[in-house]
Amino acid sequence: MPLHAQITAAVPQDALAAAWDRVSARLQTLYGDAVFRSWLKPLRFAGCEGEKVILSVPTRFMREWITSHYADEIRSLWAKDPDAEGYVLYITVGQAPARAPEKKPEAPVSNVISTGSWQAAPDTSDTAQMGAPLDPRYTFENFVVGKPNELAHAAARRVAETDKVVPGCNPLFLYGGVGLGKTHLMHAIAWHIRKNNPNRRVLYLSAEKFMYQFIKALRFKEAFAFKEYFRSVDVLMIDDVQFISGKDSTQEEFFHTFNALVDQNKQLIISGDRSPSDLDGLEERVRSRLGWGLVADIHATTYELRLGILQSKIELMRDIEIPQKVTEFLAHKITSNVRELEGALNRVVAHATLVGRPITLETAQEVLRDLLRAHDRRISIEDIQKQVAAHYNIKVSDMHSARRSRVVARPRQVAMYLSKKLTSRSLPEIGRRFGGKDHTTVMHAVKRIEELMAEDGEFARDVELIEKMMRS
Ligand code: ADP
Ligand code: MG
Repeated sequence: MPLHAQITAAVPQDALAAAWDRVSARLQTLYGDAVFRSWLKPLRFAGCEGEKVILSVPTRFMREWITSHYADEIRSLWAKDPDAEGYVLYITVGQAPARAPEKKPEAPVSNVISTGSWQAAPDTSDTAQMGAPLDPRYTFENFVVGKPNELAHAAARRVAETDKVVPGCNPLFLYGGVGLGKTHLMHAIAWHIRKNNPNRRVLYLSAEKFMYQFIKALRFKEAFAFKEYFRSVDVLMIDDVQFISGKDSTQEEFFHTFNALVDQNKQLIISGDRSPSDLDGLEERVRSRLGWGLVADIHATTYELRLGILQSKIELMRDIEIPQKVTEFLAHKITSNVRELEGALNRVVAHATLVGRPITLETAQEVLRDLLRAHDRRISIEDIQKQVAAHYNIKVSDMHSARRSRVVARPRQVAMYLSKKLTSRSLPEIGRRFGGKDHTTVMHAVKRIEELMAEDGEFARDVELIEKMMRS
């Protein structure tokens, strides 16, 4: 009788499965919850063939990632387990029988108050909706964890998985630049609670929407109902809190809601593009209150994380083959944020599908040429002046003039603001390029535009649009 057959007879499947469970538990301790859940937990014991112990993972990408990042540690822990002696681990791709079928989170949201009307009044307009809809793709399962977002992810997990307020994490303040996954994490928390704890009432909305609802409530003399409504939730999530900076009455209401919820031991999760201490235009007490709990930042992506995100997105696409070279090229070149990275990937895939040819490095470079050029190009003050003048239909020469009329003065301020934001020029230098103005004029312009953007959503969108055009 061959040796492995003896061993198979002596050590039943159950013992091997138990050995794997022990190793798995050690991996969790070793790597921490965040990494474990994303990468190691999906490894399932799937049976054995002779001396081969088969583990399965759902995707090819996961197998590669696990093999390249964790294989040595897994092997060494396995080798140390007494029941595992003589058995070798193999990882296959496929669903282990133990895996429960995944439910897709696309059924109507029940406990997540995302679309429900908060007033019984027959208001059929979209203004009747208090929360914002959740994106079914934004789940923890689809979130790739890496160094830059490890803390934010772990904190989001904790909050999602705990029934009560997490000590030291109230509020949980997530901050980071645009397109780095703040909204994704917030939706993931909401989906998770909805699935696992349907009695908890979760409300997710943007700060902009919060403000809008508040103003509307004031206008219709429903401020009381508004307050009651917000205070009835268990978990309140406000996205992009920077939008309420400068808006005093909204801040005031936000602050009261905030206090009321914290006093009642409700969980709050807030996101912003800067840390509480860097958020301008917020009242001091609001700012300090925001920083009371856990402040978790999401850093710019690393090459490794970008690669991981791309590969996980590719896994989700059916019948698409993308050479490793192309993935590496994208991860190397599109460094700004995850949203742009996804956009670039989608463009490459869309192109290949349209022309019906396989994706190669050459076609990827071709398809993304303009995008890459924009990334490489530096924006000049002259470009900004031209773009802004065109947008507001004034002459470029008005950018240099001393005319005070609002029609030209406001666009000039916008151009100054964008020059400060998009170039590395100093204030005096910018002033010179605008017809020899003083640096305090530029400073004033920047401040004024920021205030206006905070007060007036339409104006803000206008300026953001110009900025987007400049960047693309
Ligand atoms: P933010 O709210 O910070 O501006 P989003 O949450 O909207 O950013 O993320 C932008 C896009 O990038 C979304 O499509 C999101 O799914 C994706 N994304 C961001 N971070 C990750 C990640 N770690 N794993 C997978 N997708 C990500
Ligand atoms: Mg967002």
